[in-house]
Amino acid sequence: MAAKTTSKINKIRTFALVLVFVGILVMYIGIFFRTSPVIMSVTMILGFIFILASSGVYFWIGMMSTKTVTVQCPNCGKTTKILGRVDACMSCNEPLTLDAELEGKEFDLKYNRKKS
Ligand SMILES: [Zn+2]
Repeated sequence: MAAKTTSKINKIRTFALVLVFVGILVMYIGIFFRTSPVIMSVTMILGFIFILASSGVYFWIGMMSTKTVTVQCPNCGKTTKILGRVDACMSCNEPLTLDAELEGKEFDLKYNRKKS
């Protein structure tokens, strides 16, 4: 993945959405194996697990959203949520930080993991 600055919540949302589509796709593939009940049930269960996992991810986003800090983006003026020390604006992907030490530094998601 390229070093594109995208809001973490948006990234996780995309991931959850992809999971739903994978689940539907897997179930859809199962329809082609109607003649084999074993393959069909396996694909149906797999697809169901994917969709279940995605609702789990959505729940996780909900939990995390309670921990985010809502700020007004200095670039586009919209309110956005920051998760961790650095994050990107949900609307314009402007890199944002809550840590004054990191201000002006190049955007790097590594700052989220590093604890000085
Ligand atoms: Zn913005």
